[in-house]
Amino acid sequence: MTVTPLFELDDEQKALQETIREFAESEIAPHAAEWDEHHTFPIDVIRKLGELGAMGVVFPEEYGGLGAGAIAQAVVIEELARIDSSVAITVGASVSLGGEPLLLFGTEEQKQRFLVPLAQGMTLGAFASTEPGGGSDIQAATTTARRDNGAWVINGTKAFITNAGTELSAFCIATARTQLDNGTKLSAFIIPNGTPGYEPQKPYRKLGWHASDTRELVFHDCRVPGDAVLGDLGKGARVFLTPLDGGRVGVAAMSVGLAQGALEQAMAYAKERVAFGAPIARQQAISFKLAELKTRIEAARLLTYRAAALKEAGQPFTEAAAAAKLFASEVAVRAAEENLQIHGGFGYIEESAVPRFYRDAKILTIGEGTSEILKHVIARKMGLSE
Ligand SMILES: Cc1cc2nc3c(=O)[nH]c(=O)nc-3n(C[C@H](O)[C@H](O)[C@H](O)COP(=O)(O)OP(=O)(O)OC[C@H]3O[C@@H](n4cnc5c(N)ncnc54)[C@H](O)[C@@H]3O)c2cc1C
Repeated sequence: MTVTPLFELDDEQKALQETIREFAESEIAPHAAEWDEHHTFPIDVIRKLGELGAMGVVFPEEYGGLGAGAIAQAVVIEELARIDSSVAITVGASVSLGGEPLLLFGTEEQKQRFLVPLAQGMTLGAFASTEPGGGSDIQAATTTARRDNGAWVINGTKAFITNAGTELSAFCIATARTQLDNGTKLSAFIIPNGTPGYEPQKPYRKLGWHASDTRELVFHDCRVPGDAVLGDLGKGARVFLTPLDGGRVGVAAMSVGLAQGALEQAMAYAKERVAFGAPIARQQAISFKLAELKTRIEAARLLTYRAAALKEAGQPFTEAAAAAKLFASEVAVRAAEENLQIHGGFGYIEESAVPRFYRDAKILTIGEGTSEILKHVIARKMGLSE
């Protein structure tokens, strides 16, 4: 009797996986430590990934993409994060936070102007929701957009925004409070880089993701035309939250990739490091850690591909995406920590990828919905809360 595996990548997805894996091993791995040490944004590699089609995997061909679907997108992000999380988040954020809101809510003109170059890998996009006063509670935003002679004038500050300040950054989509007849509501605006009054600040110094671009954005009387609104006026929360489900699948895929990379590093070291006359992999305490990690990573990968498959099939996937991100991000943190523990003192020295993976893992339980917020999402879907 032949049993069909619960989940297997098709030939096209496997070919893409192979291409990105080879690229990551040859073009990213040799430089990742240096970019991390010097906080260098790897612009040439991001350009090359764009040429390979990595920024357009999920977007339809008519908008410059490959039309290869959400599972293929997850595979690309996973393969990048297996080697370097900074590169993975640069691609992932541009696709899910910059491109997906345009695909879902943009007018044809907005798609042609902003989505097509992004999907073709020529530009990067950003979404600015978080503010210094709050990230999880998006309705607490205090940035304002006021009407003025048919235009909008934006004032406020956004915090921790990915991809807004690089040479390739073309626009950010920002939420701001607008005064409407039915009260003050969040709306979303597309703000091209270079617009007077839109001022990306200098990059933060972060615990991890050193080679990714994260900045505070200041809007000071920033004037954009009337047609800069993305989606319906007063529906900015939807413009942010709907694509965020896809973003969570992306962060889950990053988590699987980072955990896989950490497991491979730990296995290689455990087979080679001798203590008490034998490789430490022979110690059950070590081999059990590795066996447990492998099992958790496979479970995380299945949850991630399942959420991506639901998205691809056009079915509801909010809960599946939250569950995948919640589980996979915690597996990644654990894998990074066990990898360091297995490397002993060498794991604490910045001469291998081990401490970089450790530092890069923690943000996965915070960005695009903290673990606590994801539990709220799942509990709500279970009918346990409003
Ligand atoms: C490197 C990096 C890149 C980022 N990129 C972007 C980006 O591109 N765009 C963007 O808009 N944002 C971005 N963010 C922001 C990120 O999404 C937020 O940091 C995150 O959503 C959490 O918001 P916060 O930091 O304000 O924490 P808070 O919302 O203040 O939460 C603080 C703590 O309280 C907990 N908490 C809050 N509310 C509840 C509740 N109701 N129940 C239980 N616990 C709760 C949280 O889980 C957390 O542990 C980025 C952040 C970082 C660090």
